[in-house]
Amino acid sequence: MLPIPLRCLRLAGLLLVAACTVRPVHGDVAAADAAAAAEAGLRAIPKIDVHAHYRTDTPELVSTLADWHVRAVLVTVTGSDRKIDEKWRDHRALQAAHPDRFFLVTTFDPFRFNEPDFVATTIAKLRADIAAGAKGVKVWKDIGMELKDADGQYVQIDNPRFQPIWDFLAEQHIPVMAHIGEPLAAWRPLSDSSPHFWYYSNNPQYHAYSHPEIPSHETIIAARDRWVARNPRLTIVAMHLASLEYDVAEVGKRLDAYPNLYVETAARINDLAMQPSPKVRDFFLRYQNRVMWGTDFGEGSTSRAALDAAFDQQWRYYVRRDTVTLGSARGWHRTVEGLDLPMTVLDKFAHRNAERVLKLR
Ligand SMILES: [Zn+2]
Repeated sequence: MLPIPLRCLRLAGLLLVAACTVRPVHGDVAAADAAAAAEAGLRAIPKIDVHAHYRTDTPELVSTLADWHVRAVLVTVTGSDRKIDEKWRDHRALQAAHPDRFFLVTTFDPFRFNEPDFVATTIAKLRADIAAGAKGVKVWKDIGMELKDADGQYVQIDNPRFQPIWDFLAEQHIPVMAHIGEPLAAWRPLSDSSPHFWYYSNNPQYHAYSHPEIPSHETIIAARDRWVARNPRLTIVAMHLASLEYDVAEVGKRLDAYPNLYVETAARINDLAMQPSPKVRDFFLRYQNRVMWGTDFGEGSTSRAALDAAFDQQWRYYVRRDTVTLGSARGWHRTVEGLDLPMTVLDKFAHRNAERVLKLR
């Protein structure tokens, strides 16, 4: 149940969103009023960002999130620096300072895979992190694309050595948040028509096309699908649209096949915009209990200006019927019709599914 003021705000927001779809007839002043009202409506929707990496407690970050009614799940991830402990410490400090604003998701170091006590120490660490408030456990693309076993073979997420960890998490009712694989664009030549051009230009180590030793997208996704199928009691949130961002129909096939699977949209909204809006809208309607909002925002996007611009762009796309430009003026961008999602669907996507699946209060 939302606190009363938030509920009121939300209702006001809904009315304003509805009002703003009517074309103003009184000239510029009315148009400006309608634009302001529409903006207020987008802000007023209660939101949980299930995929954020903020670490530093800045007044601008927290006040901007509050203005947009965003609570955020701080996801600890191995990352290329592998500094898991420092990230977990920072996330815990941020969450402790703002317990009503942030939630925690922990991870474990997969590069200890070949050590004899890997499974036991990982479970002990996760048990402690869950006791400290972790609502989920993140696994990252290093499993599948980087990690190798003692024989030098790439380790996939369905490797049986991980199984006791999944059994433990299923028993604890703790979901796994799985960023397994990369966008299909990672296995294709660099192209500035792709929303991922900037990322692979700046992170060439993950551009699998230039590293033929990295297993194929198909191999990694097939292993991920087997893992989801073999662990029906484990709740799995496949992050970044399950690394099937190029076609919502592919995401839908997995959601149909695996009742324990959920997805989130972080850093893949531009991939949605590459697909016809009516098709994407149908996907959100059909899987309205299974899709959650995420951003992947972190230390690089904590200024008010950056967050305002990004949240405004994203929520215009989900809420409005008129056209919206996604991307950045200097880089990849595309102007598309908004999804015009019904309020009941928006509400589930924006926060209710996250609250239920990650058991957030
Ligand atoms: Zn992330």
